[in-house]
Amino acid sequence: MFGWQGNILRINLTRKKAVTSTFDSSFAFNHLGGRGFAAKILWDELKPEDNPFSPTNKLVFATGPLTGFGVPNSGKLVVAAKSPLTGGYGDGNIGTNAAVQMRKAGYDAVIIEGKAKTPVFIHVKDKVAEFKDAKDLWGLNSFEVEKQLKTLYGPSVGTVSIGPAGENLVKYAMIVSQEGRAGGRPGIGAVMGSKNIKAVVFEGSNMLTAAFPKEFKEQSAASYREILTKSGYEFWKKQGTMSTIEWSQENYVLPTLNFREGSFDEAPKIGGFAMEKIKISNRGCPQCNMTCGNIVKDSEKQEAELDYENVAMLGSNIGLGDLGQVATLNRLADELGLDTISLGNVIGFALEASERKLITDRIHWGKFKDLRGLVSDIAYRRGLGELLAEGVKYVAAKLGGDSSDWAMHVKGLEISGYDCHAAPGMALSYGTSPIGAHHKDAWIIGWEIEHGRESYDEEKIAKLAEAQRLRGGVFEALTLCRFPYLQLGLALEWYPKLLHAATGTQLPWATLYEIADRTSHLIRAFWIREFGKDWTSDMDMPPKRWFKEPLTKGPLKGKKLDKEKFTTMLTGYYSKKGWDERGIPTRSTLRKFGLGEVAHQLNKHVLLAE
Ligand code: SF4
Repeated sequence: MFGWQGNILRINLTRKKAVTSTFDSSFAFNHLGGRGFAAKILWDELKPEDNPFSPTNKLVFATGPLTGFGVPNSGKLVVAAKSPLTGGYGDGNIGTNAAVQMRKAGYDAVIIEGKAKTPVFIHVKDKVAEFKDAKDLWGLNSFEVEKQLKTLYGPSVGTVSIGPAGENLVKYAMIVSQEGRAGGRPGIGAVMGSKNIKAVVFEGSNMLTAAFPKEFKEQSAASYREILTKSGYEFWKKQGTMSTIEWSQENYVLPTLNFREGSFDEAPKIGGFAMEKIKISNRGCPQCNMTCGNIVKDSEKQEAELDYENVAMLGSNIGLGDLGQVATLNRLADELGLDTISLGNVIGFALEASERKLITDRIHWGKFKDLRGLVSDIAYRRGLGELLAEGVKYVAAKLGGDSSDWAMHVKGLEISGYDCHAAPGMALSYGTSPIGAHHKDAWIIGWEIEHGRESYDEEKIAKLAEAQRLRGGVFEALTLCRFPYLQLGLALEWYPKLLHAATGTQLPWATLYEIADRTSHLIRAFWIREFGKDWTSDMDMPPKRWFKEPLTKGPLKGKKLDKEKFTTMLTGYYSKKGWDERGIPTRSTLRKFGLGEVAHQLNKHVLLAE
């Protein structure tokens, strides 16, 4: 088989055994890679009774058929498991040399199961996996761990690791690589911690072989060149995603003070142009020629990385208008292995709870000393941090009153960086994202603002479903970064061409979309199986704040979401997906995608509609 290595490494920590198995072309062509592989593996191997922190949970690393080949923006790794934060399917991707080295070591995917008795790290080199004692690494932050491992194995190895947050089972702990590349928002780092694994090191010397090497090399080089010719290239290199701060402020969608408002008085101080003044270099994922990580000197004179999401969530959402201080919080979060999005959301909630005197701790919007302390306290589960480490849904349930109305999450995963008081399409994107509230699958808000932000119509639903297919479906299965296409307009035609040259098989868009849909239904089935009879369409609803409390300032003052129209839009979305009015895939939809056995299994948990 060209394109794929055809191998999965299964590491059992309890038995200290590592076994390689092969997969056939039907697995490859039905699920493609990345999220597609992870969804299939987690559906097949987990049961609803498996606690996310029990040894029975599986941690999956998965790549795509183009990973490691030297294709634009292909140095990404999907990490997945049952989420301790949401109880459902959880994944994320990390830009890391570990993805490249894992493929060169001979693997398309790695499944980690069981639990080590004492902390370990795993060294995988050319199809040999070794278990190593990690007692000297346990307790170190993710930057320090990587440094030590690179001193031991050399600078070219790929590593992923967890920081103290993962060790302490903070429900939104991430897996980290290369000082700031992080993935697995729904607590995938905590799953790694629960298994007592501090890090995995990948080293490979195998060459990846394309079906048509000459054609592949030419196409790859040409697609890289095309990126350099794009008109937005220079500006992207200057600001990356940071210009979105100004865009969000202009369009009143910048999350502010726990998503009460869509604009922040101090936005110019934390925007892309302010960032340029303190920027010192770019950093990014492997195999990328448009690196977007902005390295700045933070308020403590250390290097830190900034992008839109972390500045929105650790800046405007918590009332902090000093970019150097935002950078410090972000660096700390990366070192400790915390998801910056959930962190900013949880802290915003805690600040509001303090203001309303629902908690006794006196913490204040924008007060750096309070905020810095909270970040560490959460990672180490100290004081108020013990409660906040559980995520905003849990904290609201504990505090009671009306606090669940302003706990900004969907399915337990905290909302990322866009306020949706006046953006129903983006609210639907958060509601129906396969991992809980995350923007990655469908950043519909840009299109929505241009084409009518007030509408709840069919066109918007169709646009959303199309974006989810492409971004969450195809790009996540290929584990490719979406930015060359989305930000610079790299032609989409490159992807089937490159896939053909790599795998020797024609994979036109119709086929890629069919795989994307299969993965989407499978992930939905996973959620339904977990929640069984407790599942209702309410789980796809965005937070009540956006329906109940209008914006209080600016030209959109008074705007909020309309519950009735939103519910109709959600039902329309279900129908487009082939799901019933509860949001559950019908039997015929599952059968259509070769998931007849999934339908059979799922029907044991909820009665499926025909
Ligand atoms: S554009 Fe940014 S996120 Fe995408 S691969 Fe490059 S550095 Fe990574």
